[in-house]
Formats: sequence, structure tokens, C-alpha cells
Amino acid sequence: MPGKFNLIATLGSGPGGLVLSGHTDTVPYDDQRWTSDPFTLTERDNRWYGLGTCDMKGFFALAIEAAREFAGLPMKEPLILLATADEESSMNGARALAEAGKPKARYAVIGEPTSLKPVRMHKGIMMERLKFEGQSGHSSNPALGRNALEGMHEALSELLTLRGQWQEQYRNPNFEVQVPT
Ligand SMILES: [Zn+2]
Repeated sequence: MPGKFNLIATLGSGPGGLVLSGHTDTVPYDDQRWTSDPFTLTERDNRWYGLGTCDMKGFFALAIEAAREFAGLPMKEPLILLATADEESSMNGARALAEAGKPKARYAVIGEPTSLKPVRMHKGIMMERLKFEGQSGHSSNPALGRNALEGMHEALSELLTLRGQWQEQYRNPNFEVQVPT
């Protein structure tokens, strides 16, 4: 996406290593529901308020502080801070990284808010955007056109079948939602 960037900051070098990963975007905000400026970090009642403080800019502050301790020290494997773009919407940032095969590491900690409970797996999710282009025709001979709705119908049927297969194949009672979605 033009004007959108991922950031990869590496301390040390070589293969392996640990990624501390987060996203830089937030969900859109509703001005009416904020009692302070969402773009100004505000301390109140022993908490910090601001757009995305918890999900998940606060994590970067912690990750940078943690990484600072290792600056200038010899590292066996790299420590990598990763900030991705567009996580809350298209996941284009993560897609670009996956396509580029970066960064490679042995472990990753993702700083999403989980009420400080370690979560070490994900139920699995797939999001796709499908675009169908039809071609105008006439009801007297539909074969001269191409019906985008029919194409969409076929694709949705396939997707629902695939979802059903995966949800039979993968089930984990540890999750509130026990199947991939
Ligand atoms: Zn998040």
C-alpha cells in the first residue's frame, strides 16, 4: 500500500533470534465516546488513556525498553522489533512481510492484549476479499454475458465447504471459539 510501512529493527545479527511483534495501526475511533483527546496520552485513575495504548502501542514502549538493555552487548542471536501496518484492516503489512519472507526468527512474542495471560496458539482465521467482474448481456441469451453473482455464488459455496472441512479437521476445546473461522 502506498504510504504505509512496516518497520524491522534488528539488534545483533545472524540466523534465529526472537521477534517482538506488534502493529502500528488502531481501529477507527468514535470522537463522542472519548472523554479525553484520543491522540494525547493522558494519565487518569492510575491508567494511561489514548487511542491504541493497549492494542497495541504500549507494547512497543515495553519492547523498546526491554531491547535497550541489550544495546551494545554481544548477542548470540538477533533481537528483532517488528511493527506491521494495517493489522486491524487488510493485514497488508503482514502479507508483504510473508511474501518477502521476513523477518526469519526462531521465536516470536506478539504483544496483543490478552489480560496478561500468555496465549501460545491461535484458532486460525482466514480473510479474503473476492472481486467478480461480470459482463452485461441480455436475458434473451444470458450466454452472451457473464453473471458476476453466479460466479460469487459458486465461490461462496466452495468457501463454505472448505470452512466446514477445516472446522471438522481442526477443533480445540481450549478456545472459546473452538474451530478456525
Ligand atoms: Zn491488536
